[in-house]
Amino acid sequence: MTKPRLKIIPLGGLSEIGKNMMVMEYEDDIIIIDVGLMFPGEEMLGIDLVIPDINYLLEKRDKIRGIIITHGHEDHIGALPYLLPQLNVPVYATKLTQGLISVKLKERKALSGAKLEVITLGGEVTLGKFRVELFPVCHSIPDAVGLIIHTPVGIAVHSGDFKLDYTPVSGKPTDLSRLAQLGAQGVLLLLSDSTYAELPGYTPSERVVGEALDHIMADAPGRVIVTTFSSLVSRIQQVIDSAAKHQRRVFTVGRSMNDTVRMALELGYLSAPDGILARLDELHGMPHNKVVFVTTGSQGEPTSALVRMANRDHRQLHILRGDTVVISATPIPGNEALVNRTVDNLFKQGAQVFYDKVAQVHVHGHGSQEELKLLLNLVKPKFFMPIHGEYRHVSLHAKLAESVGIPTENIFVLEDGDVLELDSQVGKVTGKITSGNVYVDGLSVGDIGSVVLRNRRMLSRDGMVVVIIAVNKQTGKLIGRPDIVTRGFIDTREAKDMIEERRNVVARILDHGGNRPAEWGFINTKIRDVLNRFYYERTKRRPMILPFMVKV
Ligand SMILES: [Zn+2]
Ligand SMILES: [Zn+2]
Repeated sequence: MTKPRLKIIPLGGLSEIGKNMMVMEYEDDIIIIDVGLMFPGEEMLGIDLVIPDINYLLEKRDKIRGIIITHGHEDHIGALPYLLPQLNVPVYATKLTQGLISVKLKERKALSGAKLEVITLGGEVTLGKFRVELFPVCHSIPDAVGLIIHTPVGIAVHSGDFKLDYTPVSGKPTDLSRLAQLGAQGVLLLLSDSTYAELPGYTPSERVVGEALDHIMADAPGRVIVTTFSSLVSRIQQVIDSAAKHQRRVFTVGRSMNDTVRMALELGYLSAPDGILARLDELHGMPHNKVVFVTTGSQGEPTSALVRMANRDHRQLHILRGDTVVISATPIPGNEALVNRTVDNLFKQGAQVFYDKVAQVHVHGHGSQEELKLLLNLVKPKFFMPIHGEYRHVSLHAKLAESVGIPTENIFVLEDGDVLELDSQVGKVTGKITSGNVYVDGLSVGDIGSVVLRNRRMLSRDGMVVVIIAVNKQTGKLIGRPDIVTRGFIDTREAKDMIEERRNVVARILDHGGNRPAEWGFINTKIRDVLNRFYYERTKRRPMILPFMVKV
């Protein structure tokens, strides 16, 4: 009999940035690490969100002992409102992370019945044959953790998202001494964040952002508007600190910003001197150089407060000449165009704009190459698996691991759905399970498939042609000539002749069967074939062709 092995299966987050989700399985016990979402790419037309496919887990639901969340970013908690009700297992996280999860679950009405457990930094939980210890890591959100997972075959270390900031604004620096201690004991497997594996050197400390904000607040002649992610609690803290220094009052704008700030204040992750935070109704009559707004919109999201202000579409606030806008975030890949347009609009309204390309108003929350190497050197794992990143990121991270002496055959570059099996001696990718994207569009989850997306792409490229055929209910014979309506395909006034000509052609196809009413499936295919060929010859376009039969 072969000895049981530890299985590591990424359901998301490998070969992509986002929707991080990892399964660890040993005999009859499964734990899940992170349940994140991904924002849709440009080709996913009309899709709001992307979440992981969890069919693999649904078959083994009774074996799942719990979910552990490393920190409160969307790409680690965002799919919980959709997937937790299906899995119905306890969720373990630190206090702030749990607060953010509650906010998310409540938004989607999935909070009741959820079993949320708080674990302290450095605390642990036993889940079946796994004992999981949460150690602090520095990231762009407080209360972020990495995991030390004691398994029957050895210790696995999961870095979460991390960097090595020795002077973080809030939260603890990464616990390097605990990691060094583990390294001396012997670690079987390290799973480590690859998001910034392309960047040489070290990621700058959050402190440089504080200095940049200080300069801006001191010099700005009028109001300052800072936009960032609502989850970037440490950045919000920096804004409050800097505002206090320059006798400005801070107004939070927008629902998610308000909710997060309130929750973080209550839980003690944000602190504000008395009288610094203000309500919008106190704004009237305040001198402009005493005002700071904090709002979302750093990604150019069309419904965010900043974008509305930039477009003169916000109910309460407009950009005024002399305002200073600080975009304290980098665009998530895919959002660049939206962000650039917002910056353009802000300049047009007369604002001065600071963003990452012109001032150091943002540092990212992930380690660069030297930090990744340091972690590898401290933990000294037998096996290494880079996680969190596109294929190029994990590949580069694998190269870094080789450069610090991990044998190539002990490094595993996986993609979503790959199954890595380990015992204390050997590791091997043994198979692949179903994984992939589940699309969330409006209220629907998962019923938008690749066919719908292909149709949307087709419509967006070449438009559509609807052919309406009226037939006699009794005889099944054509009445009059068919109608042809197009949308997004050609200018109907200019192409009048072409459409007229086609009406006749379609009529002839329908007449072909003599007096015998033809079969609808046959007519449908025939019309599409003929029109497709014709339109392609004439226009080199392939509109979607939809024949309709109306019985009258
Ligand atoms: Zn993160
Ligand atoms: Zn992340």
